[in-house]
Amino acid sequence: MKKRIYFDHAATTPVDPAVFEAMKPYFCETFGNAANTVYSFGREAAQAVGEARAKVAKAINAGCRLLDSRQKDEVYFTSGGTEADVWALTGAAYANAAKGKHIVTTKIEHAAVMSTCAQLEKRGFEVTYVGVDARGVVRLDKLIGALRPDTVLVSVMAANNETGAIQPVEEIGKLCAERKILFHTDAVQAAGALDIDVKKWNVDMLSLSAHKFYGPKGIGALYIRKGVKIDKLISGGHQEFSQRGGTSNVPLIVGLGAAIEAAATQRETRVRHLKELKARLLSRLREIDYTSVNADPERTLPGTVSVGFGFIESEGLLTSLDLNGIAASSGSACASDSLEPSHVLLAMGLSHADAQGVLRFSFGKSNTVAEIDTCVDLLKDIVAKRREMSPLFAEFKAEKKFV
Ligand SMILES: *Cc1c(COP(=O)(O)O)cnc(C)c1O
Repeated sequence: MKKRIYFDHAATTPVDPAVFEAMKPYFCETFGNAANTVYSFGREAAQAVGEARAKVAKAINAGCRLLDSRQKDEVYFTSGGTEADVWALTGAAYANAAKGKHIVTTKIEHAAVMSTCAQLEKRGFEVTYVGVDARGVVRLDKLIGALRPDTVLVSVMAANNETGAIQPVEEIGKLCAERKILFHTDAVQAAGALDIDVKKWNVDMLSLSAHKFYGPKGIGALYIRKGVKIDKLISGGHQEFSQRGGTSNVPLIVGLGAAIEAAATQRETRVRHLKELKARLLSRLREIDYTSVNADPERTLPGTVSVGFGFIESEGLLTSLDLNGIAASSGSACASDSLEPSHVLLAMGLSHADAQGVLRFSFGKSNTVAEIDTCVDLLKDIVAKRREMSPLFAEFKAEKKFV
């Protein structure tokens, strides 16, 4: 079989072999319960969890007692990015309900934030969804206009999963701090690509997920600034400083630690490589007529490109690519089962028809320029064939003859 090509790293990444190696001993050998530190089995596990927490804290400039005994721990492990988002939003909303029940977020958030906001609306909270400009960047003027005396929480993602558009989190963090409003950011896509600094960004809460940066699935973290009180999402034992119950998943936690450490130390090399791939795709896409790039490539994640192919539907394109062993996406993994056009692309002002013709390519550290070339060569062919069958394109051509 021909070698397959994977261009969907925004959906998930493979576990890095070095990360997998780091995790291995914690399944069958160092298997102790990290909460039972009366004996060495548990202490070894607790030690591994502590070291992983320190790695996460170091990568995002959060507090960690293991790094500095005067600091308070600010990193809490969760089952992934979704749990971190749900915990941050519901936890902050309920803990502050006496102060106010208004939340501000954007029209381009991940389903984890969107559906939690919808849930909170059913529970008596009011949510304002701020729009974005044509580049997919949140409108700061609109965001400021949405803030009210009873606003208790603002949640804006650091970078969008469908377009890669980077959001002005530092500015928003400052705005919120001045007004003493809690600020949460979903940094799941940003991790590994941007230099995350919770202090510089002025965030109160920040979500991470390991499987977006070559760590395992099912593990993530929520940063909660010291002094910020939010309700628990998962009550139980005394794990995670009594803030999140459940026996620590030691191998996955170790995997998150190893992955975030590698992401931080290798960030510049990885970003340079991704930018090279992106530049190649952008330049070669010019060989295909009626294509448009969504969001501003200068303001997007280094490895994410969202492209509209006029007059065709992305589902058909994806199927043809898959038949040739190439994996891309029509938007977010979470939305790909539905036939609804992406809420992110619609918020940027794309028509339903244009939003239906969009593919997302998201590159990773193992991709090559040759793979991009293979993909574009194939796309030229597939797009031409699909357009030949497209009634929309026939109509367009007929109209053009008469202008
Ligand atoms: C993937 C993703 C999530 C969900 O993370 P999981 O660990 O898969 O639950 C949340 N937000 C964004 C922006 C994502 O890309």
